Amino acid sequence: MSFENLGLNELLLRAVKDSGYETATEVQAQAIPQGLAGKDLMVSSRTGSGKTASFILPALEKILAARGENNARREKGKIYGPKVLVLAPTRELAMQVSKAAQTYGRFVPGLKIATVLGGMPYPLQIRQLTGPLDILIATPGRLLDHLSTGKCVLENVEMLVLDEADRMLDMGFIDDIKTVADYIPKTRQTVMYSATFAGHVGRLAHDLLNDPLRIDV
Ligand code: AMP
Repeated sequence: MSFENLGLNELLLRAVKDSGYETATEVQAQAIPQGLAGKDLMVSSRTGSGKTASFILPALEKILAARGENNARREKGKIYGPKVLVLAPTRELAMQVSKAAQTYGRFVPGLKIATVLGGMPYPLQIRQLTGPLDILIATPGRLLDHLSTGKCVLENVEMLVLDEADRMLDMGFIDDIKTVADYIPKTRQTVMYSATFAGHVGRLAHDLLNDPLRIDV
């Protein structure tokens, strides 16, 4: 399917075209319109299927929509935190998602992306978390550190993405994910990507998602 028919903003279409993509992959054709419609999603699609763009493009669309709101009343010194939070199991995956967000978001005016990973120094992360921020991409453990010290605020998150949720649970992050989700308003959109939704991943989906649509490609 052509990207033009998916309902994406001109600035995002331009970035997609610049990447040389002619047509949307199967997971993109299914997940992007539903993501734009605000649906909660349970998605299974393999690495290499274009799954990153299938959640980053709707996320960027949310940020563009929020750009139209009046931000003049933002209080100086107050921490607002991100509009979109992506949780990923490993540093490598988080960095890949971050790169994709920069690529697809390169025409979004003033886009602010922070990547918060374990094993990296705290000061830069704290500076990014406490300043203006659109998208936060994080591994769960380090994010919890920042939440517990009040350096990260998630009360303005409108979209939560769990990438490779099965791997996050295999790595023992279940309680961390639930704790992080408790910081985010229930009115959020939640999308979960996982090779399987059997067993504990399915139970987590049941806990975190609201009337989700299942996409399996
Ligand atoms: P992912 O499954 O998100 O890891 O993406 C795998 C690779 O496919 C990445 O290198 C993307 O740049 C590329 N890709 C994503 N969407 C498309 C598309 N619609 N057409 C061609 N390549 C794509």
